[in-house]
Amino acid sequence: MRVLVKREDLDKRVAELAAEIDRDYAESDCLLCIGVLKGSVFFMVDLLKHLKVPLSIDFFQTSSYGGSTTPGEVRIRKDVDLPVRGKDVLLIEDIVDTGHTLNTILGLLRFRGARSVRLCALLDKSSAREVEVPIDYRGFEIENLFVVGYGLDFDERYRNLPYIAVLDETNASAGS
Ligand code: 5GP
Repeated sequence: MRVLVKREDLDKRVAELAAEIDRDYAESDCLLCIGVLKGSVFFMVDLLKHLKVPLSIDFFQTSSYGGSTTPGEVRIRKDVDLPVRGKDVLLIEDIVDTGHTLNTILGLLRFRGARSVRLCALLDKSSAREVEVPIDYRGFEIENLFVVGYGLDFDERYRNLPYIAVLDETNASAGS
């Protein structure tokens, strides 16, 4: 496993993003931060602990249809509980890859009447993009590699690593 983003670099960047978000939403009294389960949880918790603006939180969970169905079709497995209409929504995601997940969710939030919608993504694999999604707050641009840690999994493992790493595929397939 090769460390791609060290713990100290994550901490520093998360604090910088939070300062930017705090500044931009200083006038908002209806900020709703929505995380995309499960991968964004570590990032979201660390980010929100820095924020001073009043906010509420909620979660989406999605999964992609694979195999023979339409590529890029995204299914909402868990919807948000709180109303979105009239809110300033900050969507918090671990990684933007093809962009299909975020494209679907951003469209849904706008359709439901959010006052504003912005996206905060820790990692951006822009070279893998299939649909364009505007990232308002971006942690790190990374290469088109499969990464784990800090919320991101491989087969539900490695989420609790305190850094982002590139998985050694030989070890992963051997199940070690
Ligand atoms: P997209 O719809 O942008 O292709 O995919 C977004 C989702 O795919 C992410 O929320 C994440 O769950 C998953 N994903 C994309 N790239 C990676 C990666 O490198 N590592 C892990 N663990 N998940 C990824």
